[in-house]
Amino acid sequence: MSNKPYSFFESVEQSFDKAAQYTKWDKGLLAQIKACNSIYNMRFPVKMDDGTIEVIEAYRVQHSQHRTPCKGGIRFSDEVNQDEVMALASLMTYKCAIVNVPFGGAKGGIKINPRKRSTYELEKITRRYTAELVKKNFIGPGIDVPAPDYGTGEREMAWIVDTYQSLKPGEIDALGCVTGKPISQGGVNGRKEATGLGVFFGVREVCKMPELMDKLGLSTGVEGKRIIVQGLGNVGYHCAKFFRENGAIVIAIAEFEGAVYNETGINEEELFQYRKANGSLHGFEGGEIIASGAALELDCDILIPAALENVIDKHNAPNIKAKIIGEAANGPLTPEADEILIAKGVLVIPDMYLNAGGVTVSYFEWLKNLSHVRYGRLEKRFTENMNHHILTEMEQLTGKQATPKAKKLIEHGADEIDLVHSGLEETMISATNEIIDIWKSDASIPDMRTAAYICAINKVAKSYTELGIFP
Ligand code: NAD
Repeated sequence: MSNKPYSFFESVEQSFDKAAQYTKWDKGLLAQIKACNSIYNMRFPVKMDDGTIEVIEAYRVQHSQHRTPCKGGIRFSDEVNQDEVMALASLMTYKCAIVNVPFGGAKGGIKINPRKRSTYELEKITRRYTAELVKKNFIGPGIDVPAPDYGTGEREMAWIVDTYQSLKPGEIDALGCVTGKPISQGGVNGRKEATGLGVFFGVREVCKMPELMDKLGLSTGVEGKRIIVQGLGNVGYHCAKFFRENGAIVIAIAEFEGAVYNETGINEEELFQYRKANGSLHGFEGGEIIASGAALELDCDILIPAALENVIDKHNAPNIKAKIIGEAANGPLTPEADEILIAKGVLVIPDMYLNAGGVTVSYFEWLKNLSHVRYGRLEKRFTENMNHHILTEMEQLTGKQATPKAKKLIEHGADEIDLVHSGLEETMISATNEIIDIWKSDASIPDMRTAAYICAINKVAKSYTELGIFP
Protein backbone atom coordinates (compact mmCIF):
# COMPACT_ATOMS: atom_id res chain seq x y z
CA MET A 1 0.00 0.00 0.00
CA SER A 2 1.36 3.43 -0.95
CA ASN A 3 1.46 6.13 1.73
CA LYS A 4 0.27 8.85 -0.62
CA PRO A 5 -3.52 9.12 -0.37
CA TYR A 6 -5.34 8.44 -3.62
CA SER A 7 -7.40 11.20 -5.15
CA PHE A 8 -11.04 10.24 -5.64
CA PHE A 9 -10.56 9.88 -9.41
CA GLU A 10 -7.45 7.77 -8.84
CA SER A 11 -9.39 5.47 -6.55
CA VAL A 12 -12.04 4.99 -9.22
CA GLU A 13 -9.27 4.26 -11.75
CA GLN A 14 -7.74 1.81 -9.30
CA SER A 15 -10.97 -0.10 -8.88
CA PHE A 16 -11.41 -0.08 -12.67
CA ASP A 17 -7.91 -1.49 -13.27
CA LYS A 18 -8.41 -4.14 -10.61
CA ALA A 19 -11.57 -5.32 -12.38
CA ALA A 20 -10.21 -4.93 -15.93
CA GLN A 21 -7.73 -7.77 -15.23
CA TYR A 22 -10.68 -10.14 -15.18
CA THR A 23 -11.81 -9.08 -18.68
CA LYS A 24 -10.28 -9.74 -22.10
CA TRP A 25 -10.83 -6.33 -23.67
CA ASP A 26 -8.18 -4.55 -25.70
CA LYS A 27 -5.94 -2.15 -23.66
CA GLY A 28 -6.80 0.80 -25.90
CA LEU A 29 -10.49 0.19 -25.47
CA LEU A 30 -10.10 -0.01 -21.68
CA ALA A 31 -8.12 3.28 -21.73
CA GLN A 32 -10.91 4.95 -23.72
CA ILE A 33 -13.58 3.70 -21.31
CA LYS A 34 -11.62 5.06 -18.34
CA ALA A 35 -10.86 8.51 -19.78
CA CYS A 36 -13.07 11.57 -19.17
CA ASN A 37 -14.15 12.73 -22.65
CA SER A 38 -15.02 16.39 -22.00
CA ILE A 39 -14.19 18.62 -19.04
CA TYR A 40 -15.69 22.08 -18.77
CA ASN A 41 -13.98 24.04 -16.00
CA MET A 42 -15.63 27.44 -15.72
CA ARG A 43 -15.47 30.70 -13.79
CA PHE A 44 -18.25 33.28 -13.81
CA PRO A 45 -19.02 36.42 -11.82
CA VAL A 46 -22.12 36.78 -9.64
CA LYS A 47 -23.18 39.90 -7.73
CA MET A 48 -24.01 38.88 -4.16
CA ASP A 49 -26.68 40.36 -1.84
CA ASP A 50 -24.18 42.76 -0.25
CA GLY A 51 -23.20 44.17 -3.65
CA THR A 52 -19.81 42.43 -3.90
CA ILE A 53 -18.92 40.51 -7.03
CA GLU A 54 -17.70 36.95 -6.51
CA VAL A 55 -16.05 34.72 -9.07
CA ILE A 56 -17.69 31.31 -8.88
CA GLU A 57 -15.74 28.13 -9.68
CA ALA A 58 -17.83 25.42 -11.34
CA TYR A 59 -17.51 22.27 -13.44
CA ARG A 60 -19.34 19.94 -15.77
CA VAL A 61 -17.61 16.74 -16.78
CA GLN A 62 -18.93 14.39 -19.46
CA HIS A 63 -17.09 11.18 -18.83
CA SER A 64 -18.48 9.15 -21.71
CA GLN A 65 -20.62 9.67 -24.78
CA HIS A 66 -20.81 6.00 -25.76
CA ARG A 67 -24.51 6.55 -25.09
CA THR A 68 -26.18 9.95 -25.22
CA PRO A 69 -27.39 12.00 -23.50
CA CYS A 70 -24.86 12.07 -20.68
CA LYS A 71 -26.37 12.07 -17.24
CA GLY A 72 -25.31 13.00 -13.73
CA GLY A 73 -26.13 15.21 -10.76
CA ILE A 74 -24.95 18.68 -9.81
CA ARG A 75 -23.28 19.09 -6.46
CA PHE A 76 -23.07 22.30 -4.41
CA SER A 77 -20.24 22.02 -1.92
CA ASP A 78 -17.16 23.87 -0.67
CA GLU A 79 -15.16 20.74 -1.41
CA VAL A 80 -15.98 20.59 -5.15
CA ASN A 81 -12.92 20.25 -7.38
CA GLN A 82 -12.16 18.91 -10.84
CA ASP A 83 -10.83 15.56 -9.62
CA GLU A 84 -13.98 14.92 -7.60
CA VAL A 85 -16.31 15.81 -10.48
CA MET A 86 -14.28 13.58 -12.84
CA ALA A 87 -14.54 10.67 -10.41
CA LEU A 88 -18.28 11.12 -9.94
CA ALA A 89 -18.81 11.42 -13.72
CA SER A 90 -16.93 8.13 -14.27
CA LEU A 91 -19.01 6.39 -11.63
CA MET A 92 -22.12 7.58 -13.49
CA THR A 93 -21.00 5.85 -16.70
CA TYR A 94 -20.49 2.55 -14.89
CA LYS A 95 -23.66 2.96 -12.84
CA CYS A 96 -25.85 3.58 -15.90
CA ALA A 97 -24.32 0.58 -17.69
CA ILE A 98 -24.98 -1.77 -14.77
CA VAL A 99 -28.64 -0.80 -14.41
CA ASN A 100 -29.20 -0.71 -18.20
CA VAL A 101 -29.97 3.01 -18.34
CA PRO A 102 -28.93 4.13 -21.86
CA PHE A 103 -26.88 7.19 -20.84
CA GLY A 104 -23.21 8.13 -20.69
CA GLY A 105 -21.87 9.41 -17.37
CA ALA A 106 -21.52 13.07 -16.39
CA LYS A 107 -21.39 15.19 -13.25
CA GLY A 108 -21.45 18.85 -12.33
CA GLY A 109 -20.26 20.80 -9.35
CA ILE A 110 -20.32 24.36 -8.04
CA LYS A 111 -17.81 25.24 -5.34
CA ILE A 112 -20.10 26.96 -2.84
CA ASN A 113 -21.51 26.17 0.56
CA PRO A 114 -25.27 26.39 -0.02
CA ARG A 115 -25.93 26.77 3.71
CA LYS A 116 -24.02 30.07 3.71
CA ARG A 117 -25.89 31.56 0.71
CA SER A 118 -29.25 33.29 0.54
CA THR A 119 -31.95 31.73 -1.63
CA TYR A 120 -31.63 34.63 -4.05
CA GLU A 121 -27.86 34.13 -4.37
CA LEU A 122 -28.33 30.40 -4.96
CA GLU A 123 -30.89 31.12 -7.65
CA LYS A 124 -28.57 33.59 -9.41
CA ILE A 125 -25.65 31.16 -9.27
CA THR A 126 -27.75 28.23 -10.54
CA ARG A 127 -29.26 30.23 -13.40
CA ARG A 128 -25.88 31.63 -14.46
CA TYR A 129 -24.35 28.13 -14.34
CA THR A 130 -27.17 26.86 -16.59
CA ALA A 131 -26.61 29.74 -19.04
CA GLU A 132 -22.89 28.81 -19.19
CA LEU A 133 -23.83 25.19 -19.96
CA VAL A 134 -26.22 26.31 -22.72
CA LYS A 135 -23.54 28.57 -24.25
CA LYS A 136 -21.12 25.64 -24.59
CA ASN A 137 -23.79 23.11 -25.61
CA PHE A 138 -23.25 21.16 -22.38
CA ILE A 139 -26.94 20.72 -21.55
CA GLY A 140 -30.02 19.52 -23.45
CA PRO A 141 -32.39 16.54 -23.53
CA GLY A 142 -30.24 14.81 -26.16
CA ILE A 143 -26.85 16.11 -24.96
CA ASP A 144 -26.41 16.15 -21.21
CA VAL A 145 -29.11 15.98 -18.54
CA PRO A 146 -28.20 17.08 -14.98
CA ALA A 147 -30.03 16.04 -11.79
CA PRO A 148 -29.83 16.69 -8.03
CA ASP A 149 -26.88 15.60 -5.95
CA TYR A 150 -25.29 16.66 -2.66
CA GLY A 151 -26.57 20.14 -1.72
CA THR A 152 -29.14 20.44 -4.52
CA GLY A 153 -32.75 19.36 -4.96
CA GLU A 154 -36.02 20.05 -6.75
CA ARG A 155 -35.77 23.81 -6.32
CA GLU A 156 -32.43 24.05 -8.15
CA MET A 157 -33.69 21.73 -10.91
CA ALA A 158 -36.73 24.01 -11.40
CA TRP A 159 -34.39 27.00 -11.83
CA ILE A 160 -32.35 25.04 -14.36
CA VAL A 161 -35.32 23.99 -16.51
CA ASP A 162 -36.77 27.49 -16.39
CA THR A 163 -33.48 29.07 -17.49
CA TYR A 164 -33.04 26.48 -20.24
CA GLN A 165 -36.55 27.06 -21.56
CA SER A 166 -36.05 30.84 -21.64
CA LEU A 167 -32.85 30.41 -23.65
CA LYS A 168 -34.32 27.79 -26.00
CA PRO A 169 -37.86 28.97 -26.70
CA GLY A 170 -40.05 26.52 -28.57
CA GLU A 171 -37.84 23.48 -27.96
CA ILE A 172 -40.56 20.87 -27.58
CA ASP A 173 -38.57 18.43 -25.41
CA ALA A 174 -37.02 21.13 -23.22
CA LEU A 175 -38.42 19.61 -20.00
CA GLY A 176 -36.07 16.67 -20.57
CA CYS A 177 -33.00 18.92 -20.12
CA VAL A 178 -32.82 18.11 -16.39
CA THR A 179 -34.38 15.56 -14.02
CA GLY A 180 -35.34 15.65 -10.35
CA LYS A 181 -37.75 18.52 -11.08
CA PRO A 182 -40.85 19.28 -9.02
CA ILE A 183 -43.94 17.44 -10.36
CA SER A 184 -45.47 20.72 -11.52
CA GLN A 185 -42.38 21.37 -13.66
CA GLY A 186 -42.31 17.97 -15.38
CA GLY A 187 -40.95 15.84 -12.56
CA VAL A 188 -42.00 12.25 -11.95
CA ASN A 189 -43.62 10.85 -8.82
CA GLY A 190 -41.11 8.77 -6.88
CA ARG A 191 -37.91 10.61 -7.85
CA LYS A 192 -37.32 12.20 -4.46
CA GLU A 193 -37.11 8.89 -2.58
CA ALA A 194 -35.63 6.92 -5.51
CA THR A 195 -32.00 6.67 -4.39
CA GLY A 196 -32.86 5.70 -0.80
CA LEU A 197 -35.49 3.21 -1.96
CA GLY A 198 -33.06 1.75 -4.50
CA VAL A 199 -30.47 1.29 -1.73
CA PHE A 200 -33.10 -0.49 0.31
CA PHE A 201 -34.10 -2.80 -2.59
CA GLY A 202 -30.43 -3.60 -3.32
CA VAL A 203 -29.53 -4.40 0.30
CA ARG A 204 -32.77 -6.37 0.77
CA GLU A 205 -31.90 -8.52 -2.27
CA VAL A 206 -28.43 -9.26 -0.90
CA CYS A 207 -29.93 -10.08 2.50
CA LYS A 208 -32.19 -12.66 0.82
CA MET A 209 -29.15 -14.71 -0.30
CA PRO A 210 -28.55 -17.52 2.23
CA GLU A 211 -24.98 -18.25 1.06
CA LEU A 212 -23.86 -14.67 1.64
CA MET A 213 -25.73 -14.30 4.93
CA ASP A 214 -24.34 -17.61 6.25
CA LYS A 215 -20.80 -16.40 5.58
CA LEU A 216 -21.50 -13.23 7.56
CA GLY A 217 -23.20 -15.10 10.38
CA LEU A 218 -26.48 -13.29 9.71
CA SER A 219 -30.00 -14.58 9.19
CA THR A 220 -31.70 -13.85 5.86
CA GLY A 221 -34.06 -10.88 5.47
CA VAL A 222 -33.83 -7.26 6.60
CA GLU A 223 -36.28 -7.68 9.45
CA GLY A 224 -34.63 -7.13 12.82
CA LYS A 225 -31.31 -6.07 11.29
CA ARG A 226 -29.57 -3.27 13.22
CA ILE A 227 -28.77 -0.36 10.93
CA ILE A 228 -26.59 2.76 11.19
CA VAL A 229 -27.13 5.59 8.70
CA GLN A 230 -24.67 8.43 8.15
CA GLY A 231 -26.22 11.61 6.71
CA LEU A 232 -29.85 12.65 7.15
CA GLY A 233 -30.17 14.30 3.74
CA ASN A 234 -32.26 13.08 0.85
CA VAL A 235 -30.60 9.68 0.51
CA GLY A 236 -29.95 8.95 4.20
CA TYR A 237 -33.43 10.02 5.29
CA HIS A 238 -35.12 7.73 2.77
CA CYS A 239 -32.79 4.80 3.51
CA ALA A 240 -33.63 5.07 7.20
CA LYS A 241 -37.35 5.36 6.41
CA PHE A 242 -37.55 2.28 4.17
CA PHE A 243 -35.43 0.11 6.47
CA ARG A 244 -37.55 1.10 9.48
CA GLU A 245 -40.83 0.58 7.62
CA ASN A 246 -39.67 -2.90 6.63
CA GLY A 247 -38.87 -4.07 10.12
CA ALA A 248 -35.19 -3.16 10.51
CA ILE A 249 -34.04 -1.18 13.56
CA VAL A 250 -32.20 2.06 12.83
CA ILE A 251 -29.99 2.23 15.93
CA ALA A 252 -27.94 5.30 14.98
CA ILE A 253 -28.15 8.27 12.63
CA ALA A 254 -25.09 10.50 12.21
CA GLU A 255 -25.00 14.07 10.95
CA PHE A 256 -21.93 16.28 10.76
CA GLU A 257 -22.57 17.95 14.15
CA GLY A 258 -23.13 14.67 16.06
CA ALA A 259 -25.12 11.44 16.07
CA VAL A 260 -28.14 9.95 17.81
CA TYR A 261 -27.89 6.42 19.19
CA ASN A 262 -30.77 4.28 20.45
CA GLU A 263 -30.76 0.45 20.53
CA THR A 264 -34.57 0.35 20.37
CA GLY A 265 -34.68 2.35 17.16
CA ILE A 266 -34.84 5.95 15.94
CA ASN A 267 -37.67 7.50 13.98
CA GLU A 268 -35.94 9.39 11.14
CA GLU A 269 -38.94 11.68 10.55
CA GLU A 270 -38.98 12.88 14.18
CA LEU A 271 -35.23 13.48 14.07
CA PHE A 272 -35.47 15.25 10.72
CA GLN A 273 -38.22 17.59 12.00
CA TYR A 274 -36.32 18.26 15.23
CA ARG A 275 -33.14 19.10 13.33
CA LYS A 276 -35.02 21.31 10.89
CA ALA A 277 -36.60 23.28 13.74
CA ASN A 278 -33.44 23.54 15.86
CA GLY A 279 -30.66 23.61 13.27
CA SER A 280 -28.91 20.68 14.99
CA LEU A 281 -29.66 17.25 16.40
CA HIS A 282 -28.26 18.24 19.81
CA GLY A 283 -31.05 18.15 22.39
CA PHE A 284 -33.07 15.49 20.52
CA GLU A 285 -34.64 13.24 23.13
CA GLY A 286 -35.11 10.11 21.01
CA GLY A 287 -31.68 8.74 21.93
CA GLU A 288 -28.23 9.37 23.33
CA ILE A 289 -26.17 12.06 21.55
CA ILE A 290 -22.69 10.84 20.62
CA ALA A 291 -19.87 12.08 18.39
CA SER A 292 -20.56 11.84 14.66
CA GLY A 293 -17.51 9.68 13.85
CA ALA A 294 -18.14 7.37 16.81
CA ALA A 295 -21.48 6.30 15.32
CA LEU A 296 -19.75 4.65 12.37
CA GLU A 297 -17.78 2.43 14.72
CA LEU A 298 -20.74 1.11 16.75
CA ASP A 299 -21.67 -2.55 16.61
CA CYS A 300 -24.37 -3.13 13.96
CA ASP A 301 -25.38 -5.43 11.10
CA ILE A 302 -25.56 -2.89 8.27
CA LEU A 303 -23.81 0.47 7.97
CA ILE A 304 -25.17 2.88 5.38
CA PRO A 305 -22.87 5.84 4.68
CA ALA A 306 -25.13 8.36 2.91
CA ALA A 307 -23.20 11.63 3.25
CA LEU A 308 -19.96 12.19 1.34
CA GLU A 309 -16.90 10.40 -0.01
CA ASN A 310 -13.85 9.13 1.93
CA VAL A 311 -15.61 9.02 5.31
CA ILE A 312 -14.14 5.58 6.02
CA ASP A 313 -10.37 5.50 5.58
CA LYS A 314 -7.43 3.44 6.82
CA HIS A 315 -7.69 5.12 10.25
CA ASN A 316 -11.27 4.20 11.15
CA ALA A 317 -11.74 1.12 8.92
CA PRO A 318 -10.13 -1.25 11.47
CA ASN A 319 -12.74 -0.11 14.04
CA ILE A 320 -15.80 -0.70 11.86
CA LYS A 321 -17.97 -3.47 13.31
CA ALA A 322 -20.68 -3.64 10.62
CA LYS A 323 -21.00 -6.93 8.74
CA ILE A 324 -22.44 -5.25 5.66
CA ILE A 325 -21.68 -1.77 4.31
CA GLY A 326 -24.25 -0.45 1.83
CA GLU A 327 -22.60 2.42 -0.02
CA ALA A 328 -25.44 4.88 -0.48
CA ALA A 329 -23.04 7.82 -0.89
CA ASN A 330 -20.60 7.92 -3.77
CA GLY A 331 -17.11 6.78 -2.78
CA PRO A 332 -17.54 6.62 1.02
CA LEU A 333 -14.60 4.19 1.37
CA THR A 334 -11.01 4.99 0.41
CA PRO A 335 -9.25 2.15 -1.47
CA GLU A 336 -7.18 1.45 1.66
CA ALA A 337 -10.33 1.18 3.77
CA ASP A 338 -11.85 -1.11 1.14
CA GLU A 339 -8.89 -3.51 1.40
CA ILE A 340 -8.97 -3.48 5.20
CA LEU A 341 -12.71 -4.22 5.26
CA ILE A 342 -12.47 -7.00 2.67
CA ALA A 343 -9.72 -8.59 4.77
CA LYS A 344 -12.03 -8.38 7.80
CA GLY A 345 -14.73 -10.23 5.82
CA VAL A 346 -17.12 -7.27 5.62
CA LEU A 347 -19.48 -7.38 2.64
CA VAL A 348 -19.29 -4.02 0.84
CA ILE A 349 -22.21 -3.43 -1.53
CA PRO A 350 -20.72 -0.94 -3.96
CA ASP A 351 -21.94 2.60 -4.54
CA MET A 352 -21.96 2.63 -8.27
CA TYR A 353 -24.83 0.24 -8.52
CA LEU A 354 -26.40 0.45 -5.05
CA ASN A 355 -27.20 4.16 -5.34
CA ALA A 356 -28.36 3.88 -8.96
CA GLY A 357 -32.02 4.35 -7.95
CA GLY A 358 -31.78 8.09 -8.55
CA VAL A 359 -30.53 7.78 -12.09
CA THR A 360 -32.94 4.94 -12.84
CA VAL A 361 -35.95 7.05 -11.88
CA SER A 362 -34.37 10.05 -13.61
CA TYR A 363 -34.42 7.92 -16.73
CA PHE A 364 -38.15 7.32 -16.17
CA GLU A 365 -38.64 11.09 -15.72
CA TRP A 366 -36.74 11.83 -18.95
CA LEU A 367 -38.86 9.28 -20.82
CA LYS A 368 -42.01 10.91 -19.40
CA ASN A 369 -40.79 14.31 -20.58
CA LEU A 370 -40.07 13.04 -24.09
CA SER A 371 -43.40 11.24 -24.32
CA HIS A 372 -45.32 14.25 -22.94
CA VAL A 373 -47.69 12.02 -20.99
CA ARG A 374 -47.93 10.99 -17.34
CA TYR A 375 -47.32 7.30 -16.55
CA GLY A 376 -50.57 5.43 -16.06
CA ARG A 377 -52.75 8.00 -17.81
CA LEU A 378 -53.66 5.71 -20.68
CA GLU A 379 -54.08 2.38 -18.95
CA LYS A 380 -55.07 2.98 -15.31
CA ARG A 381 -58.84 3.21 -15.86
CA PHE A 382 -58.82 0.41 -18.44
CA THR A 383 -57.04 -1.93 -16.00
CA GLU A 384 -59.45 -1.03 -13.18
CA ASN A 385 -62.51 -1.70 -15.35
CA MET A 386 -61.08 -4.99 -16.59
CA ASN A 387 -60.11 -6.14 -13.06
CA HIS A 388 -63.60 -5.21 -11.85
CA HIS A 389 -65.18 -7.38 -14.56
CA ILE A 390 -62.88 -10.32 -13.79
CA LEU A 391 -63.57 -10.08 -10.06
CA THR A 392 -67.33 -9.81 -10.54
CA GLU A 393 -67.26 -12.85 -12.83
CA MET A 394 -65.25 -14.83 -10.27
CA GLU A 395 -67.62 -13.81 -7.47
CA GLN A 396 -70.59 -15.00 -9.51
CA LEU A 397 -68.90 -18.30 -10.43
CA THR A 398 -67.82 -19.08 -6.87
CA GLY A 399 -70.77 -17.55 -5.07
CA LYS A 400 -68.30 -15.85 -2.71
CA GLN A 401 -67.55 -12.14 -2.16
CA ALA A 402 -64.06 -10.62 -1.95
CA THR A 403 -63.44 -8.55 1.20
CA PRO A 404 -63.43 -4.76 0.62
CA LYS A 405 -59.66 -4.75 1.26
CA ALA A 406 -59.00 -7.53 -1.29
CA LYS A 407 -61.38 -5.86 -3.79
CA LYS A 408 -59.47 -2.58 -3.53
CA LEU A 409 -56.14 -4.34 -4.01
CA ILE A 410 -57.25 -6.48 -6.97
CA GLU A 411 -59.09 -3.74 -8.84
CA HIS A 412 -56.40 -1.08 -8.44
CA GLY A 413 -54.92 0.17 -11.73
CA ALA A 414 -51.33 1.40 -11.63
CA ASP A 415 -50.66 5.06 -10.86
CA GLU A 416 -47.41 6.75 -11.82
CA ILE A 417 -45.89 6.08 -8.40
CA ASP A 418 -46.75 2.35 -8.60
CA LEU A 419 -45.07 2.04 -11.99
CA VAL A 420 -42.00 4.02 -10.97
CA HIS A 421 -41.49 2.01 -7.75
CA SER A 422 -42.03 -1.24 -9.60
CA GLY A 423 -39.59 -0.28 -12.37
CA LEU A 424 -37.04 0.66 -9.72
CA GLU A 425 -37.54 -2.57 -7.77
CA GLU A 426 -37.12 -4.65 -10.94
CA THR A 427 -33.98 -2.71 -11.89
CA MET A 428 -32.29 -3.08 -8.50
CA ILE A 429 -33.16 -6.78 -8.16
CA SER A 430 -31.86 -7.58 -11.67
CA ALA A 431 -28.66 -5.57 -11.19
CA THR A 432 -27.95 -7.21 -7.82
CA ASN A 433 -28.37 -10.69 -9.28
CA GLU A 434 -26.31 -9.88 -12.37
CA ILE A 435 -23.40 -8.70 -10.22
CA ILE A 436 -23.66 -11.60 -7.78
CA ASP A 437 -23.69 -14.06 -10.71
CA ILE A 438 -20.46 -12.51 -12.07
CA TRP A 439 -18.92 -12.70 -8.58
CA LYS A 440 -19.92 -16.36 -8.19
CA SER A 441 -18.70 -17.26 -11.70
CA ASP A 442 -15.02 -16.84 -10.80
CA ALA A 443 -13.68 -17.67 -7.34
CA SER A 444 -10.71 -15.35 -7.87
CA ILE A 445 -12.90 -12.19 -8.06
CA PRO A 446 -12.17 -10.80 -4.61
CA ASP A 447 -15.18 -8.64 -3.84
CA MET A 448 -18.55 -7.36 -4.99
CA ARG A 449 -17.15 -3.99 -6.13
CA THR A 450 -14.82 -5.73 -8.56
CA ALA A 451 -17.72 -7.83 -9.83
CA ALA A 452 -19.77 -4.64 -10.35
CA TYR A 453 -16.92 -3.00 -12.28
CA ILE A 454 -16.54 -6.11 -14.45
CA CYS A 455 -20.26 -5.94 -15.21
CA ALA A 456 -19.95 -2.24 -16.16
CA ILE A 457 -16.77 -2.64 -18.20
CA ASN A 458 -18.26 -5.50 -20.22
CA LYS A 459 -21.37 -3.51 -21.06
CA VAL A 460 -19.58 -0.28 -22.02
CA ALA A 461 -16.93 -2.18 -23.99
CA LYS A 462 -19.62 -4.10 -25.85
CA SER A 463 -21.36 -0.90 -26.82
CA TYR A 464 -18.07 0.57 -28.16
CA THR A 465 -17.36 -2.56 -30.19
CA GLU A 466 -20.91 -2.54 -31.52
CA LEU A 467 -20.32 1.04 -32.69
CA GLY A 468 -17.53 -0.40 -34.80
CA ILE A 469 -14.92 1.90 -33.24
CA PHE A 470 -12.89 -0.89 -31.69
CA PRO A 471 -12.25 -4.40 -32.96
P1 NAD B 1 -27.95 15.88 0.81
O1 NAD B 1 -27.26 17.17 0.67
O2 NAD B 1 -29.43 15.83 0.69
O3 NAD B 1 -27.59 15.18 2.22
C1 NAD B 1 -26.32 14.90 2.69
C2 NAD B 1 -26.36 14.97 4.21
O4 NAD B 1 -25.11 14.51 4.75
C3 NAD B 1 -26.57 16.38 4.75
O5 NAD B 1 -27.66 16.37 5.65
C4 NAD B 1 -25.25 16.70 5.44
O6 NAD B 1 -25.41 17.57 6.54
C5 NAD B 1 -24.78 15.33 5.86
N1 NAD B 1 -23.34 15.26 6.12
C6 NAD B 1 -22.32 15.90 5.51
N2 NAD B 1 -21.13 15.54 6.03
C7 NAD B 1 -21.39 14.64 6.99
C8 NAD B 1 -20.59 13.91 7.91
N3 NAD B 1 -19.27 14.00 7.89
N4 NAD B 1 -21.20 13.09 8.78
C9 NAD B 1 -22.55 12.96 8.79
N5 NAD B 1 -23.37 13.63 7.95
C10 NAD B 1 -22.81 14.46 7.07
O7 NAD B 1 -27.26 14.92 -0.27
P2 NAD B 1 -27.82 13.57 -0.87
O8 NAD B 1 -28.51 13.89 -2.15
O9 NAD B 1 -28.53 12.81 0.19
O10 NAD B 1 -26.47 12.82 -1.27
C11 NAD B 1 -25.71 12.08 -0.32
C12 NAD B 1 -24.74 11.17 -1.05
O11 NAD B 1 -25.47 10.31 -1.93
C13 NAD B 1 -23.71 11.88 -1.94
O12 NAD B 1 -22.52 11.12 -1.92
C14 NAD B 1 -24.33 11.80 -3.32
O13 NAD B 1 -23.35 11.86 -4.34
C15 NAD B 1 -24.96 10.43 -3.25
N6 NAD B 1 -26.04 10.23 -4.21
C16 NAD B 1 -27.15 11.02 -4.22
C17 NAD B 1 -28.16 10.78 -5.15
C18 NAD B 1 -29.46 11.55 -5.14
O14 NAD B 1 -30.39 11.16 -5.87
N7 NAD B 1 -29.60 12.60 -4.34
C19 NAD B 1 -28.02 9.75 -6.08
C20 NAD B 1 -26.87 8.95 -6.06
C21 NAD B 1 -25.89 9.20 -5.11
